[in-house]
Amino acid sequence: MKCPGCGMDMKAGFLQTVKIVAFNKTRHKISMTPKDEVDTILARKALTGTDFPGFICKECGLVVFDYRNDLPRL
Ligand SMILES: [Zn+2]
Repeated sequence: MKCPGCGMDMKAGFLQTVKIVAFNKTRHKISMTPKDEVDTILARKALTGTDFPGFICKECGLVVFDYRNDLPRL
């Protein structure tokens, strides 16, 4: 996959988390509860964690991952 930022080849891998992860339109100070239609809880498995297949660009730092196809932690 080509990086949408710089066009270099991205490396496949997994974005792994052990906490709640959210994408929010604005920065929430405390709660990750969605406030806007853009707001999306990506992972809420605080005890087991979540792994997402994706790609990383080591040149510019972008990470692209598929939040709808998360995997159970090994
Ligand atoms: Zn890049």
